[in-house]
Amino acid sequence: MSFTDLGLAEGIVRAVTEQGYTQPTPIQAQAIPTVLKGGDLLAGAQTGTGKTAGFTLPMLHRLSTGSKPHPNKTSARAIRALVLTPTRELAAQVEENVRAYAKYLPLNSAVIFGGVGINPQIKLLKHGVDILVATPGRLLDHMQQGTVNLDHIEILVLDEADRMLDMGFIRDIRKVLAALPPKRQNLLFSATFSDDIKALADGLLDSPATIEVARRNSTVEVIDQKIHPVDRDRKHPLLAHLIKTNNWSQVLVFTRTKHGANRLVEQLGKDGISGMAIHGNKSQSARTKALSEFKDGTLQVLVATDIAARGIDIDQLPHVVNYDLPNVPEDYVHRIGRTGRAGATGEAVSLVCVDELNMLKDIEKLIKRKLPSEVIAGFEPDLNAKPQPIQLRSHGHGGGGRRPQQGNRANPGKPGGQPARPGSGKPPAPATGRSAAQHRSGGRGR
Ligand code: AMP
Repeated sequence: MSFTDLGLAEGIVRAVTEQGYTQPTPIQAQAIPTVLKGGDLLAGAQTGTGKTAGFTLPMLHRLSTGSKPHPNKTSARAIRALVLTPTRELAAQVEENVRAYAKYLPLNSAVIFGGVGINPQIKLLKHGVDILVATPGRLLDHMQQGTVNLDHIEILVLDEADRMLDMGFIRDIRKVLAALPPKRQNLLFSATFSDDIKALADGLLDSPATIEVARRNSTVEVIDQKIHPVDRDRKHPLLAHLIKTNNWSQVLVFTRTKHGANRLVEQLGKDGISGMAIHGNKSQSARTKALSEFKDGTLQVLVATDIAARGIDIDQLPHVVNYDLPNVPEDYVHRIGRTGRAGATGEAVSLVCVDELNMLKDIEKLIKRKLPSEVIAGFEPDLNAKPQPIQLRSHGHGGGGRRPQQGNRANPGKPGGQPARPGSGKPPAPATGRSAAQHRSGGRGR
């Protein structure tokens, strides 16, 4: 099947072909015809499946071929499609894709997110935008300042809706929804379907078509995964050893905390390995710089925390290293999904110390397979070492660990669940408002 067979306009097919894509991915083959029909959609797809083009291409087709006259003939054009994403990086990447695919169409796009000045965004919006990609917090800021008009939205996309809820954006999303015209097409993309997502979908979507493509954790066969058992204080020399002996030139490394990420970059620097960290405490410009230097190969190692890495799109990233195992087993799948994308092969290596054996068990349960283990000569772990509690927060920095590991133990089967308050018999009060979300996530998305 080709993109033309799916019924997309010639200009869109031309732009897609220029990107080097000849065949739609499974999510695209299913989502494109469904969205073209104009109804609502509930799609289960993770990053790496080609979901962005899955909603962008039919959205562009509908906007460019729709008979609807321009609502504002005299003043600036009105925003007709809104895409909400959880993180700044994802917003930037989605808008980059929209721009590339809309190359031959008379449609323009803009991206707005927090962490950067609001004035250039106000200027852009004033100038007129057809497709707006935004993170919820900054969009709300614009709404409150009256610098964005959402009265003419025809298509709404919630991308990575599960992540937006995880990050505490539900109130912001509801405020945005309340400001949209009631008659519109709604597309909700989510990697997982928790009760919260189902509740959001129930309230938002009108008789949606539902599609689900194989989860990454059932399609990760192209990724060569293994663990290296090692003592907790030998992880850094082991990583340096692996990078040097294998000549890894582009490796994405995950740490549990922001502090851990910074410290690792420093240590690698002493070994002559160039690295930079991206996490919520870094300015947007530092993150953008790190990402672009990593992408163009100037930077050998990018060290990231889970949320910062969400949605990073690097074609053919060969190596992912879990320096620390993630607190939430699903994050393992998201992390290794950075490699082996769209058919390329990749390698994901996890450095596992005795403290993390429960996490490893949870991950193996989720991906339904045992990860092969290889002890590296010279880094044999002490078999008598006793596990220590895992440090989930950076020292005095307000945290990097999003959810307590005890939650997993207290609520087996509920990955990442918050632990009950001792003696209360109740779950803890939900994090309210954006400040709690920002605290957990390092202020992402604004
Ligand atoms: P996404 O799931 O949207 O983050 O996309 C994952 C990766 O697949 C990105 O690097 C895209 O550029 C790439 N991609 C998207 N559509 C296709 C396609 N039809 N064929 C090959 N690669 C694609």
